[in-house]
Amino acid sequence: MGRDLALTRNVGVMAHIDAGKTTVSERMLFLSGKTHKIGESHDGTATMDYLTAEKERGITITSAATTFAWACQSKTYQFNLIDTPGHVDFAVEVERCLRVLDGAVAVFCAVGGVQPQSESVWRQSERYGVPKIAFVNKMDRDGANFHSVLEQMKKRLGVTPCPIQIPIGHEASFRGVVDLITLKAYEWVLKDPKSKYPDMLEIPIPTGEEYADLEKEIREGREQLLEAIADLDETFMEKYLTDPSTITADEIYPLVRKATLSRAIVPVMCGSAKRDIGVERLMDAVTLFLPSPIDKGHIEAMNADDAEKVEIREISPDAPFSALVFKIMQSDFGQLIFLRVYSGVLSTGATVYNMRSKSKVRTGRLYQMNAGKKEEIQECYTGDICALQGVKELKTGDTLCDEKHPLLLSAINFPEPVIKMSIEVQRQSDIAELEKGLLAIMEEDPSFRFYTDQETDQIIIAGMGELHLEVRIGELQEKKKLEIKLGEPQVSYREAITTSVEHRSVYKKQTGGRGKFADIIFEMSPADVGVEGLQFEDEVKGGNIPKEFIPSVQKGFEIAMKNGPLAGYDMTSLKIVLKDGSYHPVDSDQMSFELCAKQAFREACVKANPVLMEPMMLLNITTPEDYVGDVIGDINKRRGLIRDSVEEASAHQIVCVVPLANMFGYVTALRTLTQGRAYSVMEFDHFEALPENLAKEVIEKKNLAKSVKK
Ligand code: GDP
Repeated sequence: MGRDLALTRNVGVMAHIDAGKTTVSERMLFLSGKTHKIGESHDGTATMDYLTAEKERGITITSAATTFAWACQSKTYQFNLIDTPGHVDFAVEVERCLRVLDGAVAVFCAVGGVQPQSESVWRQSERYGVPKIAFVNKMDRDGANFHSVLEQMKKRLGVTPCPIQIPIGHEASFRGVVDLITLKAYEWVLKDPKSKYPDMLEIPIPTGEEYADLEKEIREGREQLLEAIADLDETFMEKYLTDPSTITADEIYPLVRKATLSRAIVPVMCGSAKRDIGVERLMDAVTLFLPSPIDKGHIEAMNADDAEKVEIREISPDAPFSALVFKIMQSDFGQLIFLRVYSGVLSTGATVYNMRSKSKVRTGRLYQMNAGKKEEIQECYTGDICALQGVKELKTGDTLCDEKHPLLLSAINFPEPVIKMSIEVQRQSDIAELEKGLLAIMEEDPSFRFYTDQETDQIIIAGMGELHLEVRIGELQEKKKLEIKLGEPQVSYREAITTSVEHRSVYKKQTGGRGKFADIIFEMSPADVGVEGLQFEDEVKGGNIPKEFIPSVQKGFEIAMKNGPLAGYDMTSLKIVLKDGSYHPVDSDQMSFELCAKQAFREACVKANPVLMEPMMLLNITTPEDYVGDVIGDINKRRGLIRDSVEEASAHQIVCVVPLANMFGYVTALRTLTQGRAYSVMEFDHFEALPENLAKEVIEKKNLAKSVKK
């Protein structure tokens, strides 16, 4: 039953904004024969771009999976194309996509080359061990330079780019490629003058004086390619050293595949998606060189009871079922829940087990998305991707599995927001609508939060960056037609303690009849590395605190942590070891212990040297040499620390860590400083204690705001 898993490709296209990700994806869909009209991303008909906001900004925010077929070397493959967001403010989505795809096509612009955002997405994909093919797009543009992109890949990404094609012609005269594996040349020509789309034709490799450079490039390129893979196989090496001219394409393919899968090389191809040149060959390369779901051999998941333990699961339709919910999105068809099946088979109407909620879930009908069309399928096979509809209880990151064979697939950590803004609607009557909309965003995007500030009564939205919030709210505004006003962006500070203390707290109230009594002794310390939230351990012996009151102590601390001792910011991690205590047979109840924990939290925190923590950002700046001094001077003024400063052929790269608090409006400032010639990319790095004098200022300001409100 089922399909051959070796013929599935879960592939993502990753790129810097504007490099041509959407156009490349569109061309793939078109060529596969499923779409019959080529959409242009800039005129807003692109099939992969579901949301208006994306079209307007030209940023692909939402990752959707699209399924289509592609035949290569007489085998038909199923592609599940996973669209990855290009902006680092959507890093959570990038990570989630990287988790579910097996291989990726990195699209670079032949003019812009390796831009900082491509670099950052590349780094993330390396962390997930994703094998990649590079596609140098826009070869038709003025200033296109295949070789300089190769150089940049080497320098900026630290990889071994290995061209498997050489472009024929360049800029406006770019018209085809020479394949270094088959040593065949292809040209794209308009055969039918009435058609808008050119056909791929095999042509003799161009020769003659005009092509002297091409000949040399082919010779050198072929040499480099063979050299890069020769190490992988002794017989091949032998042949390469003695008689390289007899090497056939069929001998090269498996070794290029092996080298790509082990990430020893990155095959590089080129083309112009807009002019329909090269995309067929790129799709062939995806089938030939990128992994199928079974190439990983097995899945490594977490044990259901102990996340530290690794659970190995066979990738097979006969193994117990497991799947990961990687995306929940609003589409023209309503809410769609995308999941990838890692093992076993999911059939229509199946009941599966949700590991997060520890409950059974009926999955209903199964769909696959084919270029904006929803097609019902009967089963979703190991390694495949499908969409569910109308299953309310699922959240992004959920693991679904066979109840008798539980495991946890998701190690996806959703970072805490670093930036927040107040949000208001002009009409009071729209508040309910606003809250409904915000709740829907939060369900789809776990890095987006909203809550009501208890001191100011304002609704606050929080997320990963200014753009992240603006885009999300833009979508909401569009959908609900609300008039929304956003406040100034503010840094999300946190509080933390820095030392351990032992503390005893007694809570006693005698009012009229029955009183309240609780007594706890505990150790408070910073949580273990990597632990978020309250790490609570109960060491109480002999029922000194009865069992039924222990959860109340835990709850009390959990609630208290939302209101830090310094200025009321969240304390996002803390360890409490409850050691001992006592109770009163009449006066003690759950409420007494909860209140006691809250009181104890305040008392103990003061002794445990609390500090204010601020988000620190990793900033990557590319600037012409002339401005390096000014840019670094400015970063120093912003309390930034330079981590790295590298001189490259055309520009200078500066990597630094800066407090987010000093980075609002930086894009404009940098533009002014460098006459628009530098650009930067910023992503969240870590939280760090704020210097004492600045912490004092923030605390005073916050407390002033509180007292004004009162
Ligand atoms: P994305 O932001 O990476 O999805 O990029 P798009 O696919 O939206 O492309 C950005 C712009 O570049 C659009 O105006 C495209 O028409 C244009 N474009 C895409 N591919 C090519 C190409 O091969 N050559 C040229 N000249 N323009 C291209």
